[in-house]
This record gives sequence, structure tokens and C-alpha cells, in this order.
Amino acid sequence: MADSQCDDKKCPVHGPLSLRGAKLTGRVISAKAKKTAIVEIDYTRYIYKYERYLRKRSRIPAYNPDCISAKEGDTVNIGETRRLSKTKSFAVTGIVKQ
Ligand SMILES: [Zn+2]
Repeated sequence: MADSQCDDKKCPVHGPLSLRGAKLTGRVISAKAKKTAIVEIDYTRYIYKYERYLRKRSRIPAYNPDCISAKEGDTVNIGETRRLSKTKSFAVTGIVKQ
């Protein structure tokens, strides 16, 4: 879909949706549900007791508008927004690498 034709109310680029809060980068592991991308984030947390990093991983469902339509395997930026549905409170803001 061309940028000028996007009239999606929940689109973070063209719509009135405001982004605030966390901005994250992750990999799309599933784009099966309509307008939804499951984004996996890898991060590390330092554990003082052992003086080592703990590798952690989380999966965040994000709104995936038609004008971006990220596919499985894409690296994407996501931004926190208002609650868009029961599970989604993030929206895909752009594709970093396809
Ligand atoms: Zn759009």
C-alpha cells in the first residue's frame, strides 16, 4: 500500500496514534495473525551476586499496519502506545532489516 493511501487509525506513522514510553528493536517471529506481529526481544540483565549477565528473551505482540506489513524474520522497531487490543500495546514503527 502506498504511503499516501494509508488511512489506518492505528498506524503509528500516518494515523493520530501517539507513541510514548518504551522503544525497542526485535525480530518478528510470527506475522500470522491479521495486522499483528509477534516480536522477540533479546536482552541481558546483570546479576550482581554472580557478576555475570543473564540472557533473557521476551515476546511482545505489536500492531503491524498494512503500510509497513513486517514479515517473519524481519528486524523491526516497535514503540509503546496506548492499549490497542487485549494483548497489543506496541506498534511496529519501521523495518530495520528484511
Ligand atoms: Zn500507515
